[in-house]
Amino acid sequence: MKERKWISKTDGIVLGVLVLFAAGFLLWRAVAAQPGMRAVVTVDGEAVLQIDLQSAEDAQSYTLQNGVRLIAENHTVRFAASDCPDGICVETGALQKVGESAACVPNRTVVTVVGGEPRDVDVIAY
Ligand SMILES: [Zn+2]
Repeated sequence: MKERKWISKTDGIVLGVLVLFAAGFLLWRAVAAQPGMRAVVTVDGEAVLQIDLQSAEDAQSYTLQNGVRLIAENHTVRFAASDCPDGICVETGALQKVGESAACVPNRTVVTVVGGEPRDVDVIAY
């Protein structure tokens, strides 16, 4: 059996990577809190609605043409009601950070929280 030092070279590298990840996560959180945070709602890959989450405080309900109901509240957005059989979208709960998304597969509806430049929307739309 090989003897193992308390902190080997490999451990040092792993630790370094972890620190980098932590720094990246903090940076990502800082970006996530930036103004312009909004929810982009797509149906069949087409953006049908944008909800400004930065100013969303009191509960505001949005009903899509396919019957899916979304509620934006306290800078978050969630599926409130859908006629899909699985109900996974409603169970997903509230999205509160940039990059989070929820989908109702039977209704081909996807909600993604984005922030920053409008080009994010184009990426989702195509
Ligand atoms: Zn659903």
